[in-house]
Amino acid sequence: MILTQIRKIIFDNFNNIDVRFNNDQILELLRKDQNFDQSITIDDLETQFKKIEADGLVRCIAQNFTTKWFKLYDSMKKFTCNSCNSDVFLGDDESRVCPNTECGATL
Ligand SMILES: [Zn+2]
Repeated sequence: MILTQIRKIIFDNFNNIDVRFNNDQILELLRKDQNFDQSITIDDLETQFKKIEADGLVRCIAQNFTTKWFKLYDSMKKFTCNSCNSDVFLGDDESRVCPNTECGATL
């Protein structure tokens, strides 16, 4: 579930509302995981990044060709979803809903 991995990476590395980070940095961190499909490109992740923007986790503050810079709206917290039994990472201001698309339980 790439969306969950992206949220986890932001939580682990950029959980600070003053920090800027970009999609290339996140892809680089995703690739450190041996199980991650190494053929995935930044273009393949576009919908995922649009989703976390639409969900209200991050806002895009600058764009240079395919590189998109983001900042968090709010710091993130870790929750455990009892429905799908996974760790989920949400911005403080986001709805307390499991971001796993197949789940969507209220936390
Ligand atoms: Zn869930």
